[in-house]
Amino acid sequence: SAVLSLRDVHRDYRLGSETVHAVRGVSLDVGAGEWVAVVGPSGCGKSTLLHLLGAIDRPSSGIVRLRGEDVGALPDAQATAFRLRHVGFVFQRFYLMPTLSARENVELPMAEARVPKAERRDRARELLAYVGLGAREGHRPAQLSGGEQQRVAIARALANRPALLLADEPTGELDARTGQEIVALLGRLNADGTTIVVVTHDESLARAARRVVHMRDGVVERDEAAVST
Ligand code: ADP
Ligand code: ADP
Repeated sequence: SAVLSLRDVHRDYRLGSETVHAVRGVSLDVGAGEWVAVVGPSGCGKSTLLHLLGAIDRPSSGIVRLRGEDVGALPDAQATAFRLRHVGFVFQRFYLMPTLSARENVELPMAEARVPKAERRDRARELLAYVGLGAREGHRPAQLSGGEQQRVAIARALANRPALLLADEPTGELDARTGQEIVALLGRLNADGTTIVVVTHDESLARAARRVVHMRDGVVERDEAAVST
């Protein structure tokens, strides 16, 4: 079953009298359980595409369906509610709340989704254990390494059991070895059934994905199953 389905999606940005065609006619289906890497040169539209996939942004034309819902057509408040329930985001920078503990950071999206407090705490602990941070739940972000902070961010992204995990350069701020730990964690998540779309320049991350979508100038140039190594 398709978690994501895009049909002839365009996204234009107006810059004064100029129009930038960031995404120019992308059609794409992502099924449940897939792990897709989107790669391509800087400026080819990868981040714009990821924002469209996660209903952070709307297409100028074309259709983005997330679990069958035409998310580009939803009013803002409904798009936000839909995103909160069905999509988890991980970014290059971790965007953790500095004054909150790891556990409290993971609880935030559950609080927004009105999950009862006791359940939030249990689930946050479970998720932190899953990403290997069971012993760090009381630490604040500044007391954690970059790789640990990214693992907290991944746990937070999974808080509301999203159908889809979207990641924008999740290893971009990490050294190679720490980046490999994040790649391994994404692999484990995918093996456990999470559908993942990741935008990246990191070749080892792209190689680990099961399908690679190559973009150039706002279009999909090539879409291929990754060569297994
Ligand atoms: P990538 O992620 O592959 O580097 P982006 O999706 O960030 O590419 O950008 C695609 C194109 O759209 C680029 O030409 C970029 O300058 C332009 N762009 C991205 N975001 C905006 C914006 N908010 N306003 C205007 N132009 C933008
Ligand atoms: P960059 O690629 O410039 O280092 P990041 O990877 O940190 O940026 O973030 C990617 C994009 O996601 C940026 O355009 C940023 O504005 C956007 N973004 C970051 N956090 C959020 C958020 N919580 N909700 C929506 N968009 C976000």
